[in-house]
Amino acid sequence: MRDVAAQPAITPNIEDYDSVYNFFNWEIAYRGLNGLPSGNGLNMAYEAVERHAEVSIKNHTALRFIKSDRTTIDISYAELSRLSNQFANLLNFLGVAKGETVFTLTGRIPELYIAAFGTLKKLALFCPLFSVFGPEPIYQRLSRGNAKILVTTLDLFTTKVKPLLDRLPALSHVLITDIEKDIDDLAISLPLRMSKASSAFTIPDTKPTDDALLHFTSGTTGMPKGAVHVHGAVLTHLVTGKQVLDFHPGDIYWCTADPGWVTGTSYGIISPLVNGVTSIIDEEEFDATRWYSVLEEHKVSIWYTAPTAIRRLMRMNIEPKKQFNLEHLRMILSVGEPLHADAVKWCQKTFEVPVLDNWWQTETGGIMISNFRSLPVRPGSMGKPLPGVKAAIAAVTESSIQIIKEPDKEGHLVLKRGWPSMFKTYLHEDERYAKCFRGEWYLTGDLARCDADGYYWFVGRADDIIKTSGHMVGPFEVESSLMEHWAVSEAAVIGKPDPLIGEIVKAFIVLKSGTTINENLKLDIMAHARKKLGAAVAPKEISIVASIPKTRSGKILRRLLKARELGLPEGDLSTLEPS
Ligand code: ATP
Ligand code: MG
Repeated sequence: MRDVAAQPAITPNIEDYDSVYNFFNWEIAYRGLNGLPSGNGLNMAYEAVERHAEVSIKNHTALRFIKSDRTTIDISYAELSRLSNQFANLLNFLGVAKGETVFTLTGRIPELYIAAFGTLKKLALFCPLFSVFGPEPIYQRLSRGNAKILVTTLDLFTTKVKPLLDRLPALSHVLITDIEKDIDDLAISLPLRMSKASSAFTIPDTKPTDDALLHFTSGTTGMPKGAVHVHGAVLTHLVTGKQVLDFHPGDIYWCTADPGWVTGTSYGIISPLVNGVTSIIDEEEFDATRWYSVLEEHKVSIWYTAPTAIRRLMRMNIEPKKQFNLEHLRMILSVGEPLHADAVKWCQKTFEVPVLDNWWQTETGGIMISNFRSLPVRPGSMGKPLPGVKAAIAAVTESSIQIIKEPDKEGHLVLKRGWPSMFKTYLHEDERYAKCFRGEWYLTGDLARCDADGYYWFVGRADDIIKTSGHMVGPFEVESSLMEHWAVSEAAVIGKPDPLIGEIVKAFIVLKSGTTINENLKLDIMAHARKKLGAAVAPKEISIVASIPKTRSGKILRRLLKARELGLPEGDLSTLEPS
């Protein structure tokens, strides 16, 4: 037994970015956690749940679930410890071995979160899937991940999983959350089995390099890749929780992402609990009024969401501060896509709190570049690297890398190996993994620039870069300027092959509601873009569309727009959000 309060302040909340950046050291942060007499190495579930279940905050709410009908279920740290112990014992009983895979396919219900921590305690590999996936994407992921156990609901089992069983020979049990009795030897009742399992469990010794999580990427640029993460990643979740999300005791925090997307796990499950705050989980999908009510009713202080949601809020005719009491809200954070300057400004004006964009990927496991409370926000910038993270802009070839020191030059965004949540591999794709590195540097696949003060600015994904008349054009820049036009609500641009100039910039635009479409408006938008960007970079073609195809995590699927434009096969659409 030891008191969290007695631990050394290994990762202070950032008051002075520069001094923390200069002196931060992962090794010291690691020893701060691991040097304590936990006897459990660095197990994610230990750090997130057990560490708190033993001390004064054990009766604090760890997870608060808001059900569709707005009723709530609160689970304290101590209860979560017992429940996840039962789940770990159940895995033992079912013969699950270290490193075998446990999947969930459910909505955001307590069982998902209990399974996550139980699996981590058991040292099996945890992989949450979006419940809205169709049977084929589910099959693809379960088979690639060699699923041994699947936790799901009766409805999802019957409609989506049952037809796949013949093709999933490694699947030994399906644990169904909402039946009282087993169906057969394979499909068994989770509540029944949990009730028989002991609530005491000793976490085996865990090495920071032991596998913990499997996460499929969003599939924005192609077939989703399975990134494997290790238990040591929890250190990033701890540190970013303090330094970026600014967690303080008593905070009520809400991450709107589903755990099927890495944000919903790293920052919807692990980070808030490692930092001992209360995490809100809403079972429902986006609804502006409901979201504002959640912020008000649950006194949310820190809110982590995505640009796609912010844009949807911007489109509504709601003045949140007038209609809702948001006095507890201290900070908004955004990730997943660029948060264009207009959205930053709208948030600042509307909520009157800091709005911090941050950048990271499934592969990085946690936030790598961010705006910080202690730094002035530059609207449109992703911010600065996290203390302990070395980022750079580089010129990259098949075999070499050259770091560009000069400010404001565009190039590949690269990170120096060595942060704790760096992915361990791509599942079954070691060669592809190896190709992501040039010596000490990890290539993110994104292009960016760094200004003279060290702020990073997103340019685009290397795959989306448009080559027009000898210019390299990043979609972000063009989309940002289009969105500054009064009539434009959303924009996505692609390169369309052209025999004369390589590619032309083509834009797809969603107009603000109530705007009438006519040729003059298109010409006006083009003229606006030309004025802002110059004739070479401005779109030469514009299509007005009702919606822009996006992934479930809110990312623009430019490859799909391009395939449709060119009449090519549409590729993997497993993560496409239905419009
Ligand atoms: P795939 O790798 O399958 O194509 P994906 O890259 O979209 O999918 P994720 O790992 O979910 O999958 O997303 C990470 C990417 O999202 C980053 O590489 C970057 O392109 C984009 N991104 C994340 N945060 C930001 C941000 N703050 N600003 C701009 N882009 C961002
Ligand atoms: Mg990616």
